[in-house]
This record gives sequence, C-alpha cells and structure tokens, in this order.
Amino acid sequence: MSELRKDPVTGRWVIISTERRKRPSDFRLEPVHVSPDPACPFCEGHEHMTPRELLAYRRNGHAPNQPGWDLRVVPNQFPVLRVEGSLDRQGEGLFDKMNGIGAHEVIIETPKHQESLATIGEAAVEQVLWSFRERVQDLKQDRRFRYIIIFKNHGTAAGASLDHPHSQLIALPIVPREVRDEVDGARQHYASKERCVFCDLIRQDAADGRRLIAESADMIALAPYAPRFPFETWILPKRHQSLFEDAPRHEYASLARLLADILRRMNKALVSPPYNLLIHSAPLSEAVGEFYHWHVEIIPKLTKVAGFEWATGFYLNPTAPEEAAQVLKDAHP
Ligand SMILES: [Zn+2]
Ligand SMILES: [Zn+2]
Ligand SMILES: [Zn+2]
Repeated sequence: MSELRKDPVTGRWVIISTERRKRPSDFRLEPVHVSPDPACPFCEGHEHMTPRELLAYRRNGHAPNQPGWDLRVVPNQFPVLRVEGSLDRQGEGLFDKMNGIGAHEVIIETPKHQESLATIGEAAVEQVLWSFRERVQDLKQDRRFRYIIIFKNHGTAAGASLDHPHSQLIALPIVPREVRDEVDGARQHYASKERCVFCDLIRQDAADGRRLIAESADMIALAPYAPRFPFETWILPKRHQSLFEDAPRHEYASLARLLADILRRMNKALVSPPYNLLIHSAPLSEAVGEFYHWHVEIIPKLTKVAGFEWATGFYLNPTAPEEAAQVLKDAHP
C-alpha cells in the first residue's frame, strides 16, 4: 500500500510509494567523479579568471586576488540578478514585474579542485559556513533585499556547471515561494499552539527515533516525515533560532561536523551521489523570530521530477523516510 503523508510545516502532501519500494541499489546511481581541469577559473593561480574577490580567507601576508587563499567569495561572472540600480516595481494590469536587482555570488570552498565538503575536513567546512554568515551580514544592510538564499549544486546532474567545489548565494528583492510556504505554515502552527513547529518536530523525531539519522549536542539530522525526494535530509539546530547568520560560533562548528558526517554517509550508501544543498533562514525584515527556525536541506539527486509532480505539485517518493534514515544510520563512513 502507498501512503499519503502531510508535511507538518507546509501542509504539502506527498505519496510514499512503498509498492515501488526502492533501496539504494535500485536507483540508477550516477556517482560524481571530478577530473583535473587546467582551465578551471576557481583553481589557485587562476584568480585573474574571476571578478575581483569580495571576501577571502588567506594564509599570512598574501595579497588579494593572488594565490595563497583557503576560501574566496567572488561575484558570479554570469549573474542572474545585478546589484546596480534602484528597485523599480511596476504592473501592467494583471501582470506584476520588477527589474532584475539582486546579488549573485560564488563561494569557492577550497583551492583544491578534486576535494568536496565531505573530504576537506571539518575546520574547512566551518570556514565555508562562516563565510556564508559574513556575506549575509554584509548584504542584509542593503534594504532592497528581502531574502538571501545560499545553495549548492554538487555534480552535473544536480545543476553544477563547474566541478570545482563551490556554493552560491543569491540576494533577492522578494521572498521565494518555498520559504513563504514554510513561514506561513509555521505562523499558523504558532497561532494555534504557541510553539515553533520545527522545535515540535525536533522533539517528536528525537523521541521517536525512526527518522533520526545522527545528532550532536547542538544539531540534529533527520529524514523528514513527508519528504519530497528519496533520502532527503534536514539538519536543524536544536536551539530555537530563526536566522542562520545569528547563530553562535560553536553552532557552525557543530553543523560543520554533522554536515560532513551526513555527506560521507550519503557518499557511502548512495555511491557519491549528485546533490543539492540549501539553507533556509528567515526572511529579512519580517517579524518571524518566534516561529521560524533555520535549517539545512540536502537532497540527493536520485530520481527525476516527472509529469505527475508537474501536474499536481504532489511528490511521489519511492523510499520511506524511516528506511532512508536506517540506511544512512548504518552507513558508517
Ligand atoms: Zn578548479
Ligand atoms: Zn524552533
Ligand atoms: Zn526548508
């Protein structure tokens, strides 16, 4: 029997299709393999191939835009939105539009082309998270921006156009739909229960244990109750906090440790899968601090979104989260 499940945050329904029950070996796995690339613009020594850096963590005494760095943040060479100009919103009857104001940056996570977040070491992952924080703190001074999304495409199948380990940041003049759905759902839950829905689900899943993958004193990794995709994994801070960039330093260290651990488990169980990773934090300048709770979502790319999903907005997931959690729990890196 299949099962329909409702996500407690957004109210979105999914179908967990246990009839077509899929174990890791049943997916057509496409392992991410990275070969050296002498033309890579993100490699050390190729600093002239990117726009000038916005932020860098450098070893002692090295000048900007030169070799000698551990991490660099540069503007995207082909930005989807541009920083220059004023925000201009106009409508044509039914139709609403605004000019393409925003910021689009690339975080080059390591000078080493063939490494990944799973292999660069926890201190380096912590630096990556810290750079996200620094860029968000800087960009949120700009009142034109309503939301800053940080995401990562790992592997061509997940949308990466360059192999070199990197994440992206886009500052937007609007709050994106996915976040709006989470915020609205969390507000409703708060209105009736006076509690944060994410705190509630952390409490319930920690006690229940069936969807729990790993946890530390500060962080918890779980397979959500109604996941859209097989092996979808969320990492949440246990302490209530709405903004990623306001977390205390030790929580970035804890997140780095748990994130690297989860990625290594996925590499083992799902054979180095392509994946998308994103950070959901509260919208800027909205009073949602009581009930929104920042988190990380990791979605291995194992299935394709097909006609049924496009037609209905219902996701069909062939792997129950309890099973996914067990597989990842057992995959000791
Ligand atoms: Zn490279
Ligand atoms: Zn909370
Ligand atoms: Zn989310």
